[in-house]
Amino acid sequence: MKLSQRITHLTPGGNDGWDVFYRARRMISEGHAITELTIGEHDIRTDPSILQAMDLSARQGHTGYAMVPGTDLLRDTVAARVQARTGVTTTRRNVLITPGGQAALFAAHVAVCNPGDVGLFLDPYYATYPGTIRGAGAIARPVQTTAEDAFQPRAERIDEAAEGAVSLLINTPNNPTGVTYSRQTLEEIAEVCRRRDLWLISDEVYDTQVWEGDHISPRSLPDMVERTLVVGSMSKSHAMTGSRCGWIVGPEDVISHLINLATHTTYGVPGFIQDAASFALTAGVAMEEEIAAPFRRRRAKAVEILAAQNTVGLVPAQGAMYLMLDIRATGQSGEGFANALLDTHAIAVMPGESFGDTAAGHIRVAMTIDDERFASALQTICNFASELSDRRAAE
Ligand code: PMP
Repeated sequence: MKLSQRITHLTPGGNDGWDVFYRARRMISEGHAITELTIGEHDIRTDPSILQAMDLSARQGHTGYAMVPGTDLLRDTVAARVQARTGVTTTRRNVLITPGGQAALFAAHVAVCNPGDVGLFLDPYYATYPGTIRGAGAIARPVQTTAEDAFQPRAERIDEAAEGAVSLLINTPNNPTGVTYSRQTLEEIAEVCRRRDLWLISDEVYDTQVWEGDHISPRSLPDMVERTLVVGSMSKSHAMTGSRCGWIVGPEDVISHLINLATHTTYGVPGFIQDAASFALTAGVAMEEEIAAPFRRRRAKAVEILAAQNTVGLVPAQGAMYLMLDIRATGQSGEGFANALLDTHAIAVMPGESFGDTAAGHIRVAMTIDDERFASALQTICNFASELSDRRAAE
């Protein structure tokens, strides 16, 4: 029987840089002690107070079908949060609750792309981006950024790629690079979107993890509110990755169509999860800061460790739970380095190549183990890079 191209072409075949990750997982299952710095998952679990709110809600009976658009309470809470942070008037009619940011990314592309339309995304990219765009029936077209620009997108490159495109997907703070986009970058992007009549899909799931400056949502830029769909999530801000609770914020008419899409796909998000999310968001910034604190600390330590050597380059670590390290001085590819690091030091990191062509010669390090082990692993990575680079110089 034949399957649809939509599903069989979701991800291109061949080695897409995930070999190291799967090899590390295999080694762990065989009993090897591997230091895992691969996946974007907190080393703490969901706060007991959030679980208590979840439990209470479920026991009080919120276990049936919940309202498809999201509960009034959570939609109001998200709207108030967005309005307070951006100054843009936002009501529940601008909010759809989704099963995580990933479902929101997919729904946003379904909402704006016709089959065969081009959806733009920036390279390097979060691994699911091209598949998400293709899954929505569109053609995923990457726009290159460069290590030399610290992976800040250039408006002229987006403009050059915009022929036939209907949407542009951006992500700040960025996974995998750890950079945040400056106001100037976002203003330039917004200008291209207005001129080229592009929808801007703004993935802001790391908005509580900003180490330098402030998070800027492009929905708040002039004339962007009607063409921007913001993707948010409880996963990173509240260590609720497994709860699958996120949202899309956008114009009312788009949200009403997206509610219709949700009726025919997800049929909403469990009510007790939404009640837990409402509780967590109402707990305010203190809780968000507490959850972000370990990454802030480790990032500060990493800056210190990296400043004391000159083989490994640090892409400006401005936000999110990752460091992007430039290991080109070793003469290795990201993949070669990551494989050798796994074999010789039992440390697993992601090769830059898994996130697109432009991150070649880099590795992504997730700051997701306890401070001491993290600092020690990072030191080992630097020492290993320095050995490789010395060996290369001696050849
Ligand atoms: N966007 C980015 C950039 C991510 O890194 C992730 C998860 N790692 C997501 C979206 C999806 O997150 P979730 O579905 O858990 O909200």
